[in-house]
Amino acid sequence: MYAPFDQPAVCNVCRWRGDSFVGPFHAEMATCPVCGSVSRDRFLLHSFFTSIDQPAGLRVWETSPRLGDRYRQMMRKHFEYFASDYDLSAHEGDIQIDLQNIALPDESVDVLLTPHVLEHVPDTDRALAEIRRVLKPGGHMFLQVPLQVGATRVPPEPEFHADNTPVFFNFGWDLTHRLRATGFAVDVLVTEEWHDVLRGAAPPIASNGDGFDVESLIAAARTTLDLERDLVSIADRGAAHVLGALPPYHHVTWRCRRTN
Ligand SMILES: [Zn+2]
Repeated sequence: MYAPFDQPAVCNVCRWRGDSFVGPFHAEMATCPVCGSVSRDRFLLHSFFTSIDQPAGLRVWETSPRLGDRYRQMMRKHFEYFASDYDLSAHEGDIQIDLQNIALPDESVDVLLTPHVLEHVPDTDRALAEIRRVLKPGGHMFLQVPLQVGATRVPPEPEFHADNTPVFFNFGWDLTHRLRATGFAVDVLVTEEWHDVLRGAAPPIASNGDGFDVESLIAAARTTLDLERDLVSIADRGAAHVLGALPPYHHVTWRCRRTN
């Protein structure tokens, strides 16, 4: 679905091309001046588009997308797309869905995009089991959470994001095994640069006060993951820069396929 990258900044949501995104490189910034996408939005779509050969026409469900009409219209041009939200307050959605009790039939979804929602759900295992139930066999979930610490913990202080929904968990790399235990084939999609750092093929990156404990992320990846098998690079250094997917440790998507 991509035209080749030939500009320093390209938005894969609205096709804007230009010299740079607006604001610093950060998962929540590097904003597209036309559609408002931030880098994690673009990395999520990149994860989806680089993973599935013939996505046109698939039934695609997204939980609480940040982006509004322009993005959703784009998605509806290509997919049978619908958006949900837990309470239809912070985000507009087509339907209300609680991930712990999903109001969708079994095996009815080809692709789920779920950005920064799972950490707001109290019962992780129940949510994952419900997601597996509604995905078709062979269907995919592309999952993002704010991955800021190496190992999953309950937030040490009460934590809220842009809305009033509490954060129940700060997830770490061990989420990978939780997902596998639910019945998904899982790999972890990253940029080439993060892939190299985590495997020790590039120098480590130091924490810089942006809320990501990079030392903990690097150390825990090496004890928690099979670095050769579990991590998959989906953007070389040039592609990551063009998408604004920097700094590298801000961008991780779990690619989960229902196996049966
Ligand atoms: Zn855009």
